Amino acid sequence: MSGLREYIFKIVILGDGKVGKTSLVLQYTEHKFNENYIMSIGANFAIKMVHVKDNTIIRLQLWDLAGQQHFQFVRPSFYRGAFASIFVFDLTRRDSFNSIRKWKEECDQYVPGIPLVLVGNKSDLNDERVVSRREGQALSLEIGSDYYYETSAKTADNIEKLFLDITDTLIEKHITNR
Ligand code: GDP
Repeated sequence: MSGLREYIFKIVILGDGKVGKTSLVLQYTEHKFNENYIMSIGANFAIKMVHVKDNTIIRLQLWDLAGQQHFQFVRPSFYRGAFASIFVFDLTRRDSFNSIRKWKEECDQYVPGIPLVLVGNKSDLNDERVVSRREGQALSLEIGSDYYYETSAKTADNIEKLFLDITDTLIEKHITNR
């Protein structure tokens, strides 16, 4: 049957090294978790297909970038055409929380005004937590993010919800006549 509509939403995932960006994507797209740390070289790229209605297909194109300064040169193509960004910090590392403002500044330079979401990851490591939910919520308000989530890429807690809400936000913003 004709009338099939297809949309691709590019989403960039930002945050310091080792906060769990790659793991979040892996858990969402493949329902897998890997304890062994593999440093990202350049950018990772994954696609997830989301059926919204019978005649509409949405693909999320998920990009995550290694946080290391020496990958600076890949930034422009990484950000180009992004519809939304997910800022990730590690609930057990305050330095990664403090870096979010820096990531927000960079994102604003390349793709100003896109919807943002803030994520505190590694919620399963509750005993090691150093950033409170209240602090996360306050930062979320400060940077103008649409939502604040606490997730675990290990247990999958809140991962589906995170991507579902972003998809809904993007549908609302970009797809009319539904
Ligand atoms: P990235 O550099 O931000 O992409 O971080 P990775 O996804 O490579 O994760 C860095 C390390 O943290 C790896 O050893 C992961 O196994 C671990 N990790 C990622 N997410 C979680 C989580 O939610 N809980 C726990 N306990 N470990 C995690």
